[in-house]
Amino acid sequence: MSFAEKLMNWYRDKGRDLPWRTTHDAYIIWLSEIILQQTRVEQGTPYFHRFVDAFPIVTKFAEADEEDILRLWQGLGYYSRARNMHKAAKMVVEEFQGVFPNAYEEAIRLPGVGEYTAAAIASFSVNEPRAVVDGNVYRVLARYFGIKEPINSTEGKKTFAEVAQEMLDKDSPGIYNQAIMDFGALQCKPKNPLCEDCIFRVECFAFRNGLVDVLPVKLKGKVSRNRYFHYFIVKENDRILMSKRGERDVWTNLYEFPMIETAEDMLMPDLMTYTDFVQYFEESTVLEAVGRQVKHILSHQNIYARFYIVEDSRSLKKKKKDWNYHYCEKIDKLAKHKLIFSFLEKNVHLISAKQP
Ligand code: SF4
Repeated sequence: MSFAEKLMNWYRDKGRDLPWRTTHDAYIIWLSEIILQQTRVEQGTPYFHRFVDAFPIVTKFAEADEEDILRLWQGLGYYSRARNMHKAAKMVVEEFQGVFPNAYEEAIRLPGVGEYTAAAIASFSVNEPRAVVDGNVYRVLARYFGIKEPINSTEGKKTFAEVAQEMLDKDSPGIYNQAIMDFGALQCKPKNPLCEDCIFRVECFAFRNGLVDVLPVKLKGKVSRNRYFHYFIVKENDRILMSKRGERDVWTNLYEFPMIETAEDMLMPDLMTYTDFVQYFEESTVLEAVGRQVKHILSHQNIYARFYIVEDSRSLKKKKKDWNYHYCEKIDKLAKHKLIFSFLEKNVHLISAKQP
């Protein structure tokens, strides 16, 4: 039995039953694929249902307000994905007459659609023989064949793409692609893969040679920069002060609490004498820390955030131009970035209409 046949047999028996696998609609497949990029299936599934309910067809997505899309997206992170989706939906309406492209060469022209997503759309919707190469596929192929080239080097990417395309079952590319990704996610897992119980244990290079923990090889990325954010929860009766972020930094146009960034980590006494703080808050301000420092990882940035309740809104001397009061009951309608969204999920009482 060939590699592909074994894999597809395994899939028929053990593959996951996921809601987007019952369709051949390129639009729905695209929605699921973008939502699941850098997101676990369990976390992404409710978002998938939410988006399909709100925008059952691509023209509805194209017509939507960006704010509504971002609001539905909040909690998922990587907001550029949501913005690119909106651009892509508009392009489908303008250049493809509202019919979502299912051919690889057309799908790849859409913003936010790379080689992986285009191959997924084309193979799942119309069985175009294009191999998907995601983290799961890299891992399975690296271990099975003993490929030692780094998966994030130019040469490595080329090698893996060639091997993946060669191994693809050309009669059932859609099923094969789903099979190899599920195999990587469920059996040939990054940590503690289930080798003892694996259909490939006899032929797998990594298993035979004790290299399971070594493969795949990845080059170290660039060092992340640390940033220190201090958020202030300022309430005035039933309104709360929120800040809309600008365009030149992370989280463009998303909402958060008023924030002061410091060059290094700082605790309350030092923070209260920090130039930016005294510019906006009275010397007599009373702060109450909420929880511990939170670490939020972005690509190439580690954000360390602390949250403080400002006991009296009159301690605020002046506001930045992007700081505005919003009614607490309307905070839900603002598109917030993941750090704030997660904080509010745990501290929902802070945005009740009563004073904190
Ligand atoms: S034997 Fe282990 S490393 Fe090899 S394919 Fe199976 S699960 Fe992956």
